[in-house]
Amino acid sequence: MNIDFKKGDGLVPVVIQDAQTLEVLMLGYMNEEAWNKTNEEQKVTFFSRSKNRLWTKGEESGNFLQVVSSHIDCDQDTVLIKVNPAGPTCHTGSRSCFNTPFNQNFLLELERIVQHRIDFPSDESYVNRLRSRGINKIAQKVGEEAVETVIAALTETDNDFINESSDLLFHLIVLLKEKGMSLETIAKNLEGRHQ
Ligand code: AMP
Ligand code: ZN
Ligand code: ZN
Ligand code: ZN
Repeated sequence: MNIDFKKGDGLVPVVIQDAQTLEVLMLGYMNEEAWNKTNEEQKVTFFSRSKNRLWTKGEESGNFLQVVSSHIDCDQDTVLIKVNPAGPTCHTGSRSCFNTPFNQNFLLELERIVQHRIDFPSDESYVNRLRSRGINKIAQKVGEEAVETVIAALTETDNDFINESSDLLFHLIVLLKEKGMSLETIAKNLEGRHQ
């Protein structure tokens, strides 16, 4: 992977994308030193034009950008980095520096929230209470919601059908997580079937 730093006077623009929700989080610039540091630490370091120095995103706030993968564009003058953000990326406290709608990919966001409930269990969490009853209970809930979805599709209102489908998807996400899987596991499997 070789970046052409000469084209932009030593700086290349770097698009930061959330690896889980696919949201575009921010755009920054890197010089060669910032790029090397980023690769060494697997944490994003920019060259800040306003600070006029290397800037590791999160150095004060703790909201580091953990590198998942890096992608150099077709003519080697722009970089895309997929990250797991440790917290809000924008200094205003927003998840993204761009004002993108929260629900543009809410299923993926929901999956992250469920994972967060699993990692940091609390008594108020429905996910946690469900999980404490064991995988049989979670699987049973998926079965019940599937039946309710079918009944709603055939005999109830569109609104009922939407609600039961939501229950089904939610519980399916919890079951996937319980088995150490994710929506991506299923998406990849479906993609693999597609010829
Ligand atoms: P942080 O790197 O998150 O510790 O933030 C350190 C400083 O960098 C903040 O006080 C802001 O001035 C600036 N900053 C943080 N996040 C951003 C951002 N997403 N875009 C531009 N400047 C930022
Ligand atoms: Zn380019
Ligand atoms: Zn911002
Ligand atoms: Zn239901």
